Amino acid sequence: MDRDNNLSKTLKCHLKVRTGPAGLHFFNRITGINFLVDEIKPPINMWSSAPRQVSVALTNACDLKCPHCYVSKFPAMLSFDKLTSWLDELDANGCIGVGFGGGEPTLYPRLLEICAYAVRETNLAVTMTTHAHRLNDQLLYELSGHLHFVRVSMDGVGPTYESIRCRPFDTLIDRITALKRIVRFGINFVVNSKTIGDLDTAVHLATDIGASEFLLLPELAVGKGVGIDEKTTITLRKWVNAYHGSLPLAISENGAEGLPICNPLSSETGLVAFAHIDASGIIKQTSYDTEGILIQEKGVMDAFNKLKIFKKE
Ligand code: SF4
Repeated sequence: MDRDNNLSKTLKCHLKVRTGPAGLHFFNRITGINFLVDEIKPPINMWSSAPRQVSVALTNACDLKCPHCYVSKFPAMLSFDKLTSWLDELDANGCIGVGFGGGEPTLYPRLLEICAYAVRETNLAVTMTTHAHRLNDQLLYELSGHLHFVRVSMDGVGPTYESIRCRPFDTLIDRITALKRIVRFGINFVVNSKTIGDLDTAVHLATDIGASEFLLLPELAVGKGVGIDEKTTITLRKWVNAYHGSLPLAISENGAEGLPICNPLSSETGLVAFAHIDASGIIKQTSYDTEGILIQEKGVMDAFNKLKIFKKE
């Protein structure tokens, strides 16, 4: 912990360094630039002990009812005080970014405070995944400077989107246009038989409105989701292989098989790369996992180390 702390302090110019099996990984949370020195392979006892990225479900609450939703429907919300201490620990142990989600994170009563805390008190990159319909001008003004990146869910366009999210598509575009004035953003696109036909239009639109990334999320059979079918998976692979657009594509790990993936950190897998904290304060490998370790008084790293033993990593 002290070692990572010292490195972070030495590089307090928004540049964070993480040590792991891939080498020395430098990351600038303002620009999003990653720089990997893979000629240096730190020994295992020098690796940063926290996962590279951690997603945090601030609350299970949501005001939409998407048919593919995998979020638990029982009410749960994280304590602000516990969360700040967990962020401190993750930062000190080499985590480079935290992603707030839910449910819908804008329904977390202290969203503004927790984003401001993470930016002010840690060197973590702070991101948020949202459906965007609650991002009114006042909230955007208040969040300005307290987020480094926002992911907006946009499954399909026009009538497809409206049939899934039951919100006007024009309102979504209006809110994204307002959002881009304060922070870089990407689009999250759940791919299933209903949305796949909208991919071309969605990517063109995302490019035109200034997105930095287009994240493909093949639907999983989790929660209310039934999972992407085989025919749609094949169509998606063909679409990705034929893609020549300027907007960078990304894809969730579960959907990456058979696709041309560029991942310089491929040696950092499983819990070295990622962990999820749900709205009950349970740390898991991913948000889709049903089992994990409850974070107790000894803190998030203690629970994370128990999770590694549980998962035999
Ligand atoms: S998918 Fe997201 S926006 Fe839709 S109901 Fe679930 S939590 Fe809410």
